[in-house]
Amino acid sequence: MATIAFIGLGNMGSGMAANLVKAGHDVKAFDLSDAAVAQAVEQGASAAGSAADAVSGADAVVTMLPAGKHVRAVYEDQVFPSAAPGTLFLDCSTIDVDSARHVGGAAVDKGFKFVDAPVSGGVAAATGGTLTFMVGGSAGDFAAAEPFLQAMGKAVIHAGDTGAGQAAKICNNMLLAITMIGTCEAFALADKLGLDQQKFFDISSKASGQSWSMTSYCPVPGPVPTTPANNDYQPGFATAMMLKDLRLAQDAAQSAGASTPLGAQAEALYAMFDNLGGRDKDFSGIYELLIGSWGKN
Ligand code: NAD
Repeated sequence: MATIAFIGLGNMGSGMAANLVKAGHDVKAFDLSDAAVAQAVEQGASAAGSAADAVSGADAVVTMLPAGKHVRAVYEDQVFPSAAPGTLFLDCSTIDVDSARHVGGAAVDKGFKFVDAPVSGGVAAATGGTLTFMVGGSAGDFAAAEPFLQAMGKAVIHAGDTGAGQAAKICNNMLLAITMIGTCEAFALADKLGLDQQKFFDISSKASGQSWSMTSYCPVPGPVPTTPANNDYQPGFATAMMLKDLRLAQDAAQSAGASTPLGAQAEALYAMFDNLGGRDKDFSGIYELLIGSWGKN
């Protein structure tokens, strides 16, 4: 079993760190929030006074931080100076591809191992150990990281070199946003045309309009009873999180010279929904905006 520094014990990191403890690892926990560290200690981790303190003597470092600027700062200021040569770094945050490549490249140049390993799945999956990890890094670094990721997830997929995990994450979520908006528009039009929504679901979920947004995460109440649509659009996956990922996708598209007009439209629509108060609603709640009932109930 290994000694693991875990930095960033928020909504996601808390459950992930607990699963590493359950797998028998010695977890040294650090977060800027004392309450988050205290919760990790209750779950069997030991408290570190700083990120550098957590990293010192660790075999592996897991980071689960909000954005690229936090990841850059934590690695450059705290992790690199304190880690032993050859230490394995796993950044599970969702960040921009450029920051992942910058930090990962610097880590490898300094003789460390590094993978970017963003996750699919929300807080329940983090707590339940059923996350999906999409991983960027060399074959050797992926092999070193895989057992740790297996302890926190149900699927671990090697996407390619450094940054490929982040690339996969934002491409997937851009596609998810586009299919969700399309599905909402189709349900809204069906409704205006007098078509029963259950009937439309029964047909489209078995026809060529079918997608995950339709069959697993249906944005209208009724057809799929477990979805946020049946619970006043409580997340699930919050609009603010989707908007963050769509902005990362647009930044990446600009930097790579890719044309993503529907991704740009999806970002604009989610920014509007966010501004109109949908920030903390599930991203499928954009259905209410598209059908014109948002703010009227
Ligand atoms: P969160 O805001 O709940 O947690 C982030 C934690 O990082 C906080 O506890 C904060 O105090 C800590 N932190 C910030 N700067 C720090 C520093 N310099 N040193 C130590 N700790 C620091 O966020 P979250 O929901 O846990 O998300 C974490 C990452 O996972 C994000 O990149 C997010 O996009 C991604 N993600 C979240 C979800 C989700 O459903 N919440 C799903 C998939 C991916």
